[in-house]
Amino acid sequence: MGLNVEVVHSSEQFPEQTEVVVIGGGIIGVATALSLVSRGIPTVLVEKGYIAGEQSSRNWGWCRRTGRDLRELPLINLSMQLWETMNIRLQQDCGFSVTGIAYASSTEQQLQTHQQWLQEAKHFDVKSEMLTSAQLHEKMPGLQGNFYGALFTAGDGRAEPQRAAPALAKAACEAGLNLQQHCAVRHIGYAGGKVSEVVTERGTIRCHSVVVAGGAWSRLLMQGCDLVLPQLKVLSMVLRTAATDFDPGMSASFGSVALRKRQDGGLTVASSSTSISDITPDSLRFMRSYLPAYRRERKNINLRLGSRFLHELMHWRPGDVEHLSLYEKIRVLDPQPDAAAVAGILNNLHQVLPQLRSLSAEQSWAGYIDTMPDAIPVISGVDTLPGLFIATGFSGHGFGIGPGAGQLMADLVIGSTPSVDPHPFRLSRFTDGEEIQAQHWL
Ligand SMILES: Cc1cc2nc3c(=O)[nH]c(=O)nc-3n(C[C@H](O)[C@H](O)[C@H](O)COP(=O)(O)OP(=O)(O)OC[C@H]3O[C@@H](n4cnc5c(N)ncnc54)[C@H](O)[C@@H]3O)c2cc1C
Repeated sequence: MGLNVEVVHSSEQFPEQTEVVVIGGGIIGVATALSLVSRGIPTVLVEKGYIAGEQSSRNWGWCRRTGRDLRELPLINLSMQLWETMNIRLQQDCGFSVTGIAYASSTEQQLQTHQQWLQEAKHFDVKSEMLTSAQLHEKMPGLQGNFYGALFTAGDGRAEPQRAAPALAKAACEAGLNLQQHCAVRHIGYAGGKVSEVVTERGTIRCHSVVVAGGAWSRLLMQGCDLVLPQLKVLSMVLRTAATDFDPGMSASFGSVALRKRQDGGLTVASSSTSISDITPDSLRFMRSYLPAYRRERKNINLRLGSRFLHELMHWRPGDVEHLSLYEKIRVLDPQPDAAAVAGILNNLHQVLPQLRSLSAEQSWAGYIDTMPDAIPVISGVDTLPGLFIATGFSGHGFGIGPGAGQLMADLVIGSTPSVDPHPFRLSRFTDGEEIQAQHWL
């Protein structure tokens, strides 16, 4: 059984020209497109599969400030404002509600890191707090285990991934977006040193600007423009349970397991510590850039050498204009969940909340998370190629920040005053000598 993603209808007419082409119909692409059309900019969104077919329907649905990289806090604050009014603005249900999010502190050292983040985050007008162990147990009835406390943000929330990006896409279409699904981009063309067209499997669209919001495919799309984006992919597993009366209100992570209540009454359950990093030719190419992040996150990274290495070595390359591309051969990146990891997640849930022992996995799935060496996204123009923009590399937390990121991307495309400072997200940070560092607060 596939994921139950809300269907969005494509536009009838294939466009020959427009102002901006957005590549990718995940939350980032649709949020960018919505922001552009809302400002009257003629825009086409091209998606090789269907809206929210990849990461944007497969995620946990958490919209959080808690424990964020400090560089992202202004952007997530903007995003949360947008989420809070989303249902009303779109006249559709994205499943968003403010529920609170807690990250339990499993060790004394983690407690200190959480406290340190709290001090730093105060400078960004973030209203988080530390819960004592007793307060955490009170908020999560039946919780087993010794926790030193928890980092908690009452204003954080959750939305339904299988509804949210489709809702934004429908609103964008109503505002004038031309949406083409099942339409892979093979090539971004330029003339006179500027972006001039996008070549798709169904024809060419002339344009002045292109936004690459291709999630895990962005590295390949950029490679097609002779640009290096140091992006890797991490496989992450999720499961959902049947409907249950258990409803702690807030979403919470206990290290070995994380859960949130779903609109359908079940729970979405997952764990960051069961993610798998397949070793690929790109892992070797970008090893130096990722080494600092790897050293610090070693306990959460499960390296795997398997068939993926050869698959990417043989097939993972940008196509040419004339021939069937990889983007068409893999319409939707739909990896198999690792059965042992899924069983481990369920087991961890039962240990932490024994009263849920009768709950089994109704469904499980996996998604490829696109990561950057410093675990923050690129939302940026490309200095060497006027007209080319990129919004990608959200490193496992792009759903919550998506609406704000889309607005910022649209600001940059049309040259209006950026809603937040885009400097931390510039592409050139990988080449201008800045020290590339990931922050690990959770
Ligand atoms: C298991 C899991 C759990 C997560 N949990 C959370 C969470 O709780 N909170 C949170 O904030 N984030 C979470 N994330 C991360 C979040 O889902 C992503 O950061 C976000 O969805 C990225 O959106 P995107 O639009 O960049 O990419 P995607 O949603 O992957 O969309 C990219 C789209 O581009 C299309 N595309 C690519 N190449 C082409 C081409 N050549 N032509 C046309 N179309 C193309 C693809 O088909 C795809 O639909 C999670 C991710 C996963 C996988």
